[in-house]
Amino acid sequence: MQQVFIKIFVFVFGAFIGSFLNVCIYRMPREISTRKPSRSFCPNCKKTIFWYDNIPIISFIFLKRRCRFCQAKISWRYPLVELLTAFSFLILLNYLGFSWKLFVYAIFISCLIVAIFTDLDFRIIPDEISVGGLAAGLILSAIFPFMHGTTVFKISILRSFLGVLIAGGILYLFAIVGDFLFFKLGDWISRKFFKREIYLKKEFEEGEEPSTMGGGDIKLLAMIGAFLGWQQALLTLFLACILGGFVGIIVKIKTKGSLIPFGPFIAVAAVISFFFSQQLIAKFYSLYYF
Ligand SMILES: [Zn+2]
Repeated sequence: MQQVFIKIFVFVFGAFIGSFLNVCIYRMPREISTRKPSRSFCPNCKKTIFWYDNIPIISFIFLKRRCRFCQAKISWRYPLVELLTAFSFLILLNYLGFSWKLFVYAIFISCLIVAIFTDLDFRIIPDEISVGGLAAGLILSAIFPFMHGTTVFKISILRSFLGVLIAGGILYLFAIVGDFLFFKLGDWISRKFFKREIYLKKEFEEGEEPSTMGGGDIKLLAMIGAFLGWQQALLTLFLACILGGFVGIIVKIKTKGSLIPFGPFIAVAAVISFFFSQQLIAKFYSLYYF
């Protein structure tokens, strides 16, 4: 009975956090404060939403997908993010138990969810999430050494730091080398032998330095390093490349070439890495030694 009560509590709590994440996803890339106005407003008519119209998932159903004032359609994204967060918290509860671990990794997952949707919408991962999350990861590592498989505080914070440096550093290096190969060397070859510029250049705005990978991705992976340590952060990068490559090819064939943001792949890969790193690493070794 108590178990069921805890599950319901965590699920409902997750839905309310999801509701707040929706606010972050909407406001952070638009540089609107997440505190002022403190009450949610309709993105269409800007009217403040009544508290009883702002209950996660339930209000969406009762309002029949429409704003009470202007009848504008409410996006499916709102209940989707609320459900996603609620189920994520429930899965974490089953995996970690009702403990401080749940608290720590619920924060981590929440950051990833915001990063996924802001990157999809705007190709932006807000610094509040990446840099703020990085700081949270370091601070939490100093308080909860279990995050880095130890009971010694100094070792935990050291591993968290290493995670930031190695994860951020590797992706920074990747970005430099990747940009050079793709935009400098690739462009040179393309002009020299095919008499045309690399078509991807068109997708960047005037004056914007073309780049295969944004600073947001680097900061996001550094944040993941702070929470999960460098080994799992590298596994995350590896999985993100496989996922991104796979989906990228499909999107490329279907839409004839458009850039897709890399952040969501990093975030999804981080979740896979968090739950399955042991099994995956064992699998790689068994393949290697075969
Ligand atoms: Zn409205």
